[in-house]
Amino acid sequence: MIVRKSMAELEKMRAAGLLVWKILEEMRGMVQEGVSTYDLEVKAERMMQDAGAKSAFKGYSTASAGKFPSVLCTSVNEEIVHGMPSPTKILKKGDIVSIDTGVQLHGYFGDSAITVAVGEISAEAQKLMDVTRESLELAIEKARPGNRLFDICGAVERHVVSNGFSIVREFVGHGIGTQLHEEPQVPNYVDRRGENPRLKEGMVLAIEPMVNAGKPGSRVKADKWTAVTEDGKASAHFEHTVAITANGPWVLTRP
Ligand code: MG
Ligand code: MG
Repeated sequence: MIVRKSMAELEKMRAAGLLVWKILEEMRGMVQEGVSTYDLEVKAERMMQDAGAKSAFKGYSTASAGKFPSVLCTSVNEEIVHGMPSPTKILKKGDIVSIDTGVQLHGYFGDSAITVAVGEISAEAQKLMDVTRESLELAIEKARPGNRLFDICGAVERHVVSNGFSIVREFVGHGIGTQLHEEPQVPNYVDRRGENPRLKEGMVLAIEPMVNAGKPGSRVKADKWTAVTEDGKASAHFEHTVAITANGPWVLTRP
């Protein structure tokens, strides 16, 4: 069942969303050569504590991997998602780093991700980031009452494929609210085996394209969390938490 939220609930999700935005903007400002992904983690965790929020990720547990140890996922270059911050992972010029974070505030979750360049990057890495971000914006435009889920999925897929990149299929977006992961799943491609519900006011979706420069294949490393591209080429990730309202899409994770 897809849980729809009242306007009062959306206002609470807005507060969570804006905190996530503020943290990611701080992270964007910190990213530079010589900074470790753990430096980012420490700052982000402090910001959550100062705001009275809980991390949505730290302690999040799956049967196969156990508990996630961090408030951020930091995924560098060929890492797609779920990279773990580490003092020994030092950012260097030419890297791209995807930073994904989520909080729980007053019972409601916000979830967002950005990919940031470290100094000068290759033209291909820049195009990968641009196309991924654009595909998210095109999908957000489809988050309107009366459309269907596949309108969102298809908007991402068309833009990515027409630009010669490929879509990660093993990880998908999701409904969000009092749970980090609610129904429906939001694939970044049209999955004809899946459901195609009509979008209604009060639904809230975390839309999160993960796009590979090379082939779509991924694998999870021995640490049980970090997903990387099979071919070793770069991957980018952008995400917003988006409410479907009578006035159109309301991106809760940006001002
Ligand atoms: Mg996320
Ligand atoms: Mg998410």
